[in-house]
Amino acid sequence: MDTLLGNRNCCVDRCECAAAACLADQALCLSHFIRDCYDQLDRIDPRAQKKAAVEGELRGMRNALEECSEQALRICLSGRPLNNLERGRLLDILLRAGELYVLLRLPGCWRTTAERSVWQAGPLRRSHMDERTTFARTLR
Ligand SMILES: [Zn+2]
Repeated sequence: MDTLLGNRNCCVDRCECAAAACLADQALCLSHFIRDCYDQLDRIDPRAQKKAAVEGELRGMRNALEECSEQALRICLSGRPLNNLERGRLLDILLRAGELYVLLRLPGCWRTTAERSVWQAGPLRRSHMDERTTFARTLR
């Protein structure tokens, strides 16, 4: 049992599962945590944005990325039993958060549509994440 979460339950309506992690000050069970992480990562992904974020927004995005990855790592290291799908998804979240973190740190890497399309065509494009998740599921 996570000492920070105690006996708290997931805060999502009608979910009665035990909380596994915290995201934006909300206690979440593992499946809702994973869902919210993916939502968060989609929202942050600069390749999906129409305009460049300003510095203040970037700081918030980096904090959100750090929170997603820290919490995912906590679950990984907590010793709680995880099935293969959960393991694959947590690993996927960690890898994707790392990728986005690098993207957000590159100065002006996605300031223009032309530059963004270079990224989208490049090795970091989104579909690789799906391939990796599929791969992670087949590991065992
Ligand atoms: Zn839940």
